[in-house]
Amino acid sequence: MEIALVGIGKIAIDQHVPAISASPDWELTATVSRHGSVEGVQAYTDFDAMLEERQDIRVVSLCMPPVPRFDYAARAIRAGRHVMLEKPPGATLSECHALVDLARAFRVSLFATWHSREAEQVAAAKAWLADKRLERLSVTWKEDVRRWHPGQEWIWQPGGLGVFDPGINALSIVTEILPDPIHLTSAVLEVPQNRQAPIAASLDFHHPAGASVTAVFDWRQEGDQTWTIEAATDAGRMVLTEGGARLAIDGVEQSAPETEGLTGEYPSLYAKMARYVTAGESDVDLSPMRHVADAFTLGRRETVDPFVE
Ligand code: NAP
Repeated sequence: MEIALVGIGKIAIDQHVPAISASPDWELTATVSRHGSVEGVQAYTDFDAMLEERQDIRVVSLCMPPVPRFDYAARAIRAGRHVMLEKPPGATLSECHALVDLARAFRVSLFATWHSREAEQVAAAKAWLADKRLERLSVTWKEDVRRWHPGQEWIWQPGGLGVFDPGINALSIVTEILPDPIHLTSAVLEVPQNRQAPIAASLDFHHPAGASVTAVFDWRQEGDQTWTIEAATDAGRMVLTEGGARLAIDGVEQSAPETEGLTGEYPSLYAKMARYVTAGESDVDLSPMRHVADAFTLGRRETVDPFVE
């Protein structure tokens, strides 16, 4: 199937282009971006012109930051295209619900991707937790914003989510692996004096069986980076590290699962999209975003030192 990639920036180049190139399902035949392009691929700067001229392209994958994404997604759906959304699927929950309704009305597939859910050991962690009684789950997501988001002003602006941009990846894993629903009870958001979005956050959740569920996100971590989820249960302890790529159960490192075909987070997302388009299905789970919205609603703000890149 032919696909167009829209918003040629960091993630498009790092992940989407290689994943599409390696896929037996997809052929990248157009890009839309004001500044970026991909060698050998027809490049548009105007989205409507691409939609109009390339009726053969039935699927578009949107890789721009969340705030402008709704407008592009709505235009694509109205033009009868299937749409794949980078995470987070939008700037607000309401606009994501609007896209779900629109996709249903236009009978196209809508896929709100959560790449971290495709990390190698997430499915194994989910399977292990499925029959255990959870006692405690803690998330530690600490990385260096200067290293991962150099020059990205949008992450500090309203709708950019700040440290929740990576933090929502952790929440996408938690909501995938926990058998029970959780909801936020309190949060502290540390917002630099000169920015609109938090540089660190700590979250507490209600768990229906009374387990302690907490998360700490911090963008000021230099040196080693930490993307860890630890869970203590009535039948042992699991530690998911490296953003879901490694899993230890009771201290024993688990071997990589055997898989058929392409492996990797983005190749898995594109394989899923191919299946959804073929089957006429959509996949939009907004639960990670709901927790982030709750944190912005309920969180206590603390002003911290200005952030200067
Ligand atoms: P980015 O490089 O800053 O932006 C991607 C591209 O979006 C830009 O190159 C720009 O292309 C386009 N864009 C920016 N603002 C726009 C606007 N107002 N209207 C239309 N297009 C606009 O960001 P990124 O790091 O790739 O992240 C994009 C999305 O991917 C985010 O939602 C992020 O959470 C997600 N993501 C990022 C990473 C990562 O490691 N960076 C990992 C996973 C997921 P033009 O200027 O050429 O139009």
